[in-house]
Amino acid sequence: MKLLSVILPAYNEEKMIEKARDTLGRILSEQDIPYEIVFVDDGSKDQTWSEIEKAAEKDNHVAGVHFSRNFGKESAMMAGLASAGGDCCVVMDCDLQHPPETVVEMYRLWEQGYEVVEGVKHSRGKESLAHRASAGMFYKIISKAVGIDMSRASDFKLLDRKAVDALLEMPERNAFFRALSAWIGYKTTSVEFDVREREEGVSKWSTKSLIRYAITNIVSFSSAPMQLVTGAGVFMFLLAVVLGIQTLVHYFTGNAVEGFTTVILLLLLIGSILMISLGIIGYYISKIYEEVKGRPRYLISRKIDSQVKEQRNR
Ligand code: UDP
Ligand code: MG
Repeated sequence: MKLLSVILPAYNEEKMIEKARDTLGRILSEQDIPYEIVFVDDGSKDQTWSEIEKAAEKDNHVAGVHFSRNFGKESAMMAGLASAGGDCCVVMDCDLQHPPETVVEMYRLWEQGYEVVEGVKHSRGKESLAHRASAGMFYKIISKAVGIDMSRASDFKLLDRKAVDALLEMPERNAFFRALSAWIGYKTTSVEFDVREREEGVSKWSTKSLIRYAITNIVSFSSAPMQLVTGAGVFMFLLAVVLGIQTLVHYFTGNAVEGFTTVILLLLLIGSILMISLGIIGYYISKIYEEVKGRPRYLISRKIDSQVKEQRNR
């Protein structure tokens, strides 16, 4: 039988660990799917880790990874994939906003030979208008960079062992899981799901962290902002030609003193465009610097392997 690893990144989710274990365990054993559940505690400040330890004690399907501090969901997902022993892995949110029943659907598709099964949001759940609009813009840029429509993409997906190994081999520190799993290709299909309401706890995302997330991931996947700099340069050059001709005409017709306003406006415009451009380029350089340092994506302080995985390895 083929083992399924379900990976659940968890940050301050003490109330959801037992619920997630119970719900997933019930659904998967009903369907006779051999499974392990890998909780990745992303440096939580509450009782998440001791909840995971408790769950592992009473259920031999449970595995756990504990980070030395909060490294973010992207790192947590990667750590989960790295320690999973399954023939296929499903990544989903620990708060059960991704419906566990869909995991079964994904597994069945995998049995039919699909290597990547993307969870696609049928509805995005409750969101404000501003949130929806900025998310829309973000996905437009990312879709363009990856070359695949990502507007309804999520982190909820099943990956075959081959795809998992391909992802783990990527050297980049700034891995954007959602786009990378589309980028690697493989035989892909998708299932639709409705985003559920969170049962316990609160969302870990603030507007600020969402903006940072968007910028980091755009930069890690696309050089479009740099091309924007080139675009601005070309635009300014065209403007320069027009104004240059006008200035020369003024000069030769003998009324060259005028146009002070134009000079001030041009100075202000060029100055700000230059500074923005430097900022964009600087941001890319700082990201290159981060990559070059080659620090690990995460540090693990404690780890529990599931007995299911150990039995299989024996
Ligand atoms: N998460 C994480 N590390 C973080 C933030 C979030 O592992 O730094 C996990 C969190 O525990 C949850 C998932 O990522 O399982 C999605 O987070 P959340 O529910 O806060 O996001 P939302 O559903 O509101 O987009
Ligand atoms: Mg959530």
